[in-house]
Amino acid sequence: MRLLRDEALQTGASRLGTRFWIFPQPPFIPGYEQPDRVWLPIPADEIGAGPSDATMYVVDPLFDKRPYGLDRLPPFEGAARPPAEAGPDRHFDSISPESREFLAVHAYACVHFVLSIWQSYLGRPVRWFFDQTFPRLEIVALANWDNAQAGYGFLELGVSDRDGIRRPYALNFDTIAHEVGHLILLSETGVPTGISREADFFPFSEAFSDAVSLISFLHFDSAIERLLRRTRGNLLLFNELNRFAETSPETQVRLATNFRRMSEVTREAHDRALPFVGAIFDTIVELYHRELVARGCADSRLLDVDLRELDQGDFDRFRAATAEAFQTRPMIFELALTAARDAVGQALAASLRRLDPSALRLEGAAKAVVAAAGGVAAELLDSNFAWREIIGRR
Ligand SMILES: [Zn+2]
Repeated sequence: MRLLRDEALQTGASRLGTRFWIFPQPPFIPGYEQPDRVWLPIPADEIGAGPSDATMYVVDPLFDKRPYGLDRLPPFEGAARPPAEAGPDRHFDSISPESREFLAVHAYACVHFVLSIWQSYLGRPVRWFFDQTFPRLEIVALANWDNAQAGYGFLELGVSDRDGIRRPYALNFDTIAHEVGHLILLSETGVPTGISREADFFPFSEAFSDAVSLISFLHFDSAIERLLRRTRGNLLLFNELNRFAETSPETQVRLATNFRRMSEVTREAHDRALPFVGAIFDTIVELYHRELVARGCADSRLLDVDLRELDQGDFDRFRAATAEAFQTRPMIFELALTAARDAVGQALAASLRRLDPSALRLEGAAKAVVAAAGGVAAELLDSNFAWREIIGRR
């Protein structure tokens, strides 16, 4: 009988999902030394060694692997390290973050964490754009190469080497989320063919992927809590949020909190993406302020001023008001931020199917996001995209 009951319990527990550790920010960032325990919405009996499942698998090459490219595609067929195994309880949270297998397990957990967020915004599972050739995504846990990339059938993580300190991208949630953003976009819009010189598919792809990284990061309860506690509810101080690109494999440090307009950027894809990311970020902050004001937790004049041109006096007044409200009602701040996050995430996701990847222009993409948003989110997005000179002023 005992055995039967345990089995029943295990089946029940398996339906809840499977436990993993994720570092919301790389462990060398102060305040993020400890990982969060997350439940991925996959039954434990559907995850095999690797980890692996019906949609993806991780490999950890034994020797240096050359990065994939146009003439080199998965599957990886060289010698690999033994695949990471779940603990006796079939969960993956007994693997030490210090161990080599943890890289594979962490990368896998991050990809699923991000995917499950965006699948819920989309309202359907993401079907890989390469699924005609490769049924599953191959995640390379560690390639000896200072970069990370996603492509046709793969997501490959190298190791950053700054000042002689080696930091695997497999431990970097921001980087992985950004790369998953590229895969989601291509899977939703399809692969562009014959892109013209004026087309903005690549800048939009960078902007969307940065937004995926930012919005996915805001899905860690612990991250929201830390962020709000550190800023005492004042997102105009954005600490963690603008750090999300800090160790980005792409050479620039890209900030969501930038003030760039289209007339101030070059044609280079990452640079050209900046105003779009900035408009997304500003909208999240403004929606957050609206929620706070509606619930009596912030000065209503916060809604009337241009936050990009705030003077020190106003800034100090707003900061004092939010800090006081945050002291007594921190939960309201968390609710406000999650509501703002979801309104923008949902609009971004819903816009994708309206886009033609080959003829995509940033203006058209911005209008699709506005159209998908509705209500006050649409108004704010519209005015922020206009301020950024992405869409014309009415
Ligand atoms: Zn990118």
